[in-house]
Amino acid sequence: MLTVPYFVPSFAGDASAAVLEVMESGWVTTGPRAAAFEEEFAAYLGAAHVVAVSTCSAAIELSLRALALPPGSAVLTPSLTFCSAVGAIINARLRPVLIDIDEHTLVPTPDTVAAAVRRAGKPAAMVVTHMAGYPVDAKELAAAAGLPRERVVEDVAHGPGGLLRGAPIGSDSYAACFSFYATKNLPIGEGGAVATYDAELAARLRAMRLHGMTKDAWKRYLPGGSWRYDVAELGMKANFTDLQAVIGSAQLRALPGMQARRHELAARYDAALAGLPGLRLPQRPANGHSWHLYQVRLRDRTTVDVALGEAGIGTSVHFIPVHQLTAYAKALGPQECASVPATDRVAEELLSLPLYPALSDEKQDLVISALAEALDGRPC
Ligand SMILES: *Cc1c(COP(=O)(O)O)cnc(C)c1O
Repeated sequence: MLTVPYFVPSFAGDASAAVLEVMESGWVTTGPRAAAFEEEFAAYLGAAHVVAVSTCSAAIELSLRALALPPGSAVLTPSLTFCSAVGAIINARLRPVLIDIDEHTLVPTPDTVAAAVRRAGKPAAMVVTHMAGYPVDAKELAAAAGLPRERVVEDVAHGPGGLLRGAPIGSDSYAACFSFYATKNLPIGEGGAVATYDAELAARLRAMRLHGMTKDAWKRYLPGGSWRYDVAELGMKANFTDLQAVIGSAQLRALPGMQARRHELAARYDAALAGLPGLRLPQRPANGHSWHLYQVRLRDRTTVDVALGEAGIGTSVHFIPVHQLTAYAKALGPQECASVPATDRVAEELLSLPLYPALSDEKQDLVISALAEALDGRPC
C-alpha cells in the first residue's frame, strides 16, 4: 500500500446520479447528452466546434486521416510524449519524423522544428504536444515548419485548464485533440474530443468517428429514425457515449476548482523544492500552464526513485521517449531514432511527482520530505 499514490481520480459529486439517470433513460450510447457535452466543452474553450470521440488517440488519428495526405507523407512530431501521436501517424499510413525539444522547457521550439525540417525535408503535416500543460504556440511552430495552420494537429491531452495568450489551449486550432482519460485534468475515465474552427472538418469527423456512416446515423434506432444510411468515407468506431458525456458535464463544472488546487500544489512544490541539490525544475511560462504534470529533473533519478518507492511515494516518468519503445524503434529505424539527442539526454533525468486535486497538503509534505531526504540525506 502506497502512503501517497501517484494518482487518485476525483469525480464531481453529481456525476454518479447523472450516470444512473442515463442508464435508466433507455439510451446509453452516442445521443443527446453527448451533443450537450460537446456544446458545453466548446463554450468552455470558446471553440467554434467540438467533436467528442472515444479517446485522444482516436482524435489524433481521425484528424490526420481527415487531411487526406498521400500515403507515406512526412509528419513531424516530438518523441518526448506518449506514443499516441506517433502511433496515429503510422496508423494513418503517414511517416513520423521526430522533432527534438528544448532541454529547459521540454517542448519543441521554432529552432528545433526548423532543424527537423533541415534534416528530413519539408513535412506534409505536424503534431505538436502541450507537454505537461506547457502552452506551446502552434502557430509559431507551424511557421517554423513552413506549414499552414490547417496541417497542424495539436495534442492537447495535457491541456484543459491551460491558457495561451489568455485563451484556453486549443480554443483556436484547426484540430486540437483532447483526452478525458482517468489521469487527465478533465477525467471521465476514457474519452476524447477534437476542437476546431473548421466547420467542414467537424462535419467529416462526426461521420468518421462512427465508421463513416452518414450524418446522424446514431438516430437510426430512435423513434422516427430510419435504418437507411450510407458509408461515404471509411472511418473508425470511435464514438463518445452519453454515459461518458454526463460524467464529462459534471467534471467540466468542477474543473475550475480542480485546476485551482493543481495550481496551489504546484506552487507548494516550487517553494519547497527550489535549491535541493541534484534537482532542477523545468522552465515554465509566466502563466497559462495547466499543471497536468509536476516534473522534476534529477541528476540521479534511479536512486531517488528507489528511495521514494521505499517511502511509499508513487512516481511516474513522462515519458519514455516514443523512439525508445521496441515497436516504434523498429518502425522509425535507427537514423530517425538517433535524431533527437536532447530528448534522449533529458529523458534519463525526468521524474513526475504526485499532483492531483485530491492530494492533501499533508500527503504532499510527505513527498517533499522524502525527496529532500533522498537528495541530501536530511529530513526537512
Ligand atoms: C494520455 C495521452 C494521450 C492519449 O490519450 P487517450 O485518451 O488515452 O487516447 C495522448 N497524448 C498524450 C500526450 C497523453 O498524455
